[in-house]
Order: sequence, then C-alpha cells, then structure tokens
Amino acid sequence: MADFDTLISNGHIIDGTGEKRFLSNLIIHNDKIISLFHPSKKKISIRNKNYLIKDLKFKREIDAQFHIVTPGFIDVHTHDDQNVFDDPTMSCKISQGVTTCIVGNCGISLAPFNFSGDVPAPIPLLGKKEVFKYARVRDYRDNFIKNPSSINVALLTGHSMLRVQAMNGDYNRAADEEEIKIMQDLLHKAMKDGSIGLSTGLAYPAASSAPTDEIIELAKVLKEYNGIFTTHMRNEGDNLINSVKETIKIGEVSGVRTVISHHKCAGRTNWGKSKKSLKLIENAKNNQHLDLDCYPYTASSTMLLKEFIARADKVLVTWSDKVKDLKVNDINNIAEEFNCSVNDVVDKLYPAGAIYFQMDDDDLNRILKFNGSMIGSDGLPGDKHPHPRLWGTFPRVLGKYSREMQLFSLEEAIFKMTGKSAATFGLEKRGLIKEGYFADIVIIDERNVIDNATYEKPLIPSSGIEQVFTNGQLVWKNLKAKLNFPGKFLEGKKFN
Ligand SMILES: [Zn+2]
Repeated sequence: MADFDTLISNGHIIDGTGEKRFLSNLIIHNDKIISLFHPSKKKISIRNKNYLIKDLKFKREIDAQFHIVTPGFIDVHTHDDQNVFDDPTMSCKISQGVTTCIVGNCGISLAPFNFSGDVPAPIPLLGKKEVFKYARVRDYRDNFIKNPSSINVALLTGHSMLRVQAMNGDYNRAADEEEIKIMQDLLHKAMKDGSIGLSTGLAYPAASSAPTDEIIELAKVLKEYNGIFTTHMRNEGDNLINSVKETIKIGEVSGVRTVISHHKCAGRTNWGKSKKSLKLIENAKNNQHLDLDCYPYTASSTMLLKEFIARADKVLVTWSDKVKDLKVNDINNIAEEFNCSVNDVVDKLYPAGAIYFQMDDDDLNRILKFNGSMIGSDGLPGDKHPHPRLWGTFPRVLGKYSREMQLFSLEEAIFKMTGKSAATFGLEKRGLIKEGYFADIVIIDERNVIDNATYEKPLIPSSGIEQVFTNGQLVWKNLKAKLNFPGKFLEGKKFN
C-alpha cells in the first residue's frame, strides 16, 4: 500500500514568491503539498513522523529533472462563469497551467441575477438567456460544487447585474437612493454567499451612466467582508488618465483593495499614456491597495460596439447572433459586401463579437513589467473564433516575454500569475509551493514553453506545459485533459 499519493522529484521549484528557483523533491497527499526536501536527503519528517525515503511508497512518481515545478496559475481575469459547466475539462485553461479562474469580471457575472427582460451589452458575452438562472451566488456555488470542473473558481459579483435588477432594466441614468439600497442588499447577500468582491464594467452601456458615487456606495459594502473591487474602467482611450484617477478615488474613499482590469492604452492617439497611468498607480500604492491585471497582446476583444470601432486600426468581426454563418472577417470587408457603412454593419450583426487591434507594444511591455501587475487572460470562451488570449496568455508570458524578450525573469513571471494573484484576491493557501498549501501544481519545460494560438487559429494548446495538478489530482498531461474534476469554489479570505 502506498504511503502517499505523488512524489515529484528532481525538479527546480519556482515557488511563486518571486524568489529564485531551488532544487527540491515534493510530496503531494490528498489535496495538499505535504513535504519539500532536497533530493540528497535520506530521511524526512512529515507531520512529526520520521521516514526513510527509500522505504516510502507512492501511487505516482514523476521525475521532473530539468523541469520547473510551479504553483498552478491563477487567471485573475476571466469570463468563464458558464464555461466551467459547458466544458468542465476547462482545456483552454489547464492546457496553459491555469488551475484557478476568477470569474465575474467587467461588471458581468452569472450570479446573482433574477431578471427576465432584455439585457444590455456586455451581459450577452456570458451566454444566452437560459444560462442566467442563479438568483443568488449560493445557487451558483452549489451548482459548481455539484458539477465541479478541473479548475477552481472564485466569483466576483458584477455591478451591471445588480444595476439591471435594481433599476428594472432602466439603466441609462444614475441609480437613485432606493435603487442603490437594493444593489447594496444584493451585494451583502452575494458576499455572504461566498463572492470575493465586486467588478464593474463602466465602459459599457449597462453601467456607463453610473456616477462615481454610485460605485463608492457599493464598494463600501465590500469593506465589511474584506472584498476586492475590480474595474474595467470607464475609459481606456482618450479619457484613460481621468479613469485611473476615478478608480484611485473609489479605492481611497471606500478603503477597499482595488484592481484595474486589463490595463491598456487603446487607440493610436493614446499610445504612450501608460507612462503617466503607471506613475499615478505607483504613487497611489503608497496609500492604498491598488493593483492591475493585463494580458500579453496588442489587440483586445469584446462585443462589437460602435463606440469601440473608431479608435481601432483594424476590427475583426468574430461572431454574430443574427448572421449565424458569418466568417471571421475585417469589418471593412463586411461593410463592402453588405454595401453599407461600418456602423450599419454593427446594427445588422448585433449581438456580435470583435477583435480590436488598437494597442502599442511599448505600452504593453511597460504594463506587463510593472511591479505588481498580474496576468489575466480576459478570454471569451463563448466565442467560436476567440481572441488567442483564451488559449495562449500564460505560456506566452513565460515563453515570449520572459524567455525570449527577457522583460523579466521566469521567477517574476510566475509571481505575477501565482503568489501575487493569490495574495491580492485573498485565495487562502494557494499561489505558492509551500508545505500545507493546496497542491495546485504545474510542471513546465522552460526551454520550449510557448503559446501556439494565433488570431487565425486561436484554439491550439500551448507547448511546454507538461503536467498540471489541481487540488492534488492530475488534470492535464501530454496535451490531454485527464477528465478529473477536483475544482473547488473558493471563497474570500478574511483579511485582518
Ligand atoms: Zn473588461
């Protein structure tokens, strides 16, 4: 009979703290890392019991020589709310080494939502009407516990969902006092049910009429639960700097930990503004908890919306609910085919999705490199032809930005996707390789780890992610999902 479940030997461990790698063996038992010890050791002690290594038996032994062993990656910015049920293998994420997804970003979450009317953009990004069936976060949580995926999930409560419900669909204005009270009540319930915080999508129709004070009143609720506030800001283009200032103010007045989502400078006329935005963020960090996430691409992706088209160099339309057999195509070509204006194309195709080429490499490099920036894919799993970030984000940061461009060390890259992320989002005993921590683990070949998904062919798994464990169970090996579903619903940590 085996003493313990899994031995991973001779690997170089990058533990997620940002510190240098070290040679170590690692033992997993049940869902935890129970021992770390140098391969030259003959005796170890586990839970105050002494063992001779040569006598120990394991269910599985993995030789990780010449490989890197890291904590499972945390995708802090996802829209996988429904994807965890549609594809519980979560291959798009475990193939990258991701073992935890934060869902409910950009103001939209599957829960809590109890509303039967038509919904504004960008809510349809999460799916068709029938997937919105969770009046409370606990309903979503219970469904995930009953139908777990291969990855862990933590849920942000979407501001737009609260808004549409409280304002009964009449969202093109500021909420009044009574409506804010309703939103606060919904948020209290959501936090009690295990949501980790609140997200906003102030750039979108559902929430763009919400004044700063409305957000502050809601963020104050988070304070009681040590919840986190994440924001797809009001503007990421011409008004970027004002939006960063607005975000800093919300965090400062409410006193809650704040994360700027997918930080970017959109549109040629705004290229270079990251110098100023990062300076503002860095200064604010002296007085408040302020962080950001980003993805390693110069194109963004969301719904096809008129207000986003003008500033992009190029727009690829990727799906349309109205024209089901639409082929991925440049919006100008579609306009020519339809013999109409680009804006008319939007009306003819809506609801539809698009990829917008609109960012500069220098801004992207600066933001990725920024001290404390975290990696989040912002992938859109419902898209038939998604942006390659859905399948490529994490290996791309490791292969292209760390190994090839040497923007930062591998240790720092891993920190941005593990230890930093778990600490910021309050995910207890995750994000580090440490005794007593959950065994979310990735074995990587650092010599060839790289993304393979492209704008043309976005559904291709990456190279170099050899084995992935979630809560101690193997979920990915040799480019295949193992059909184990050990994912847990993660609730927020109680900070002091
Ligand atoms: Zn967003």
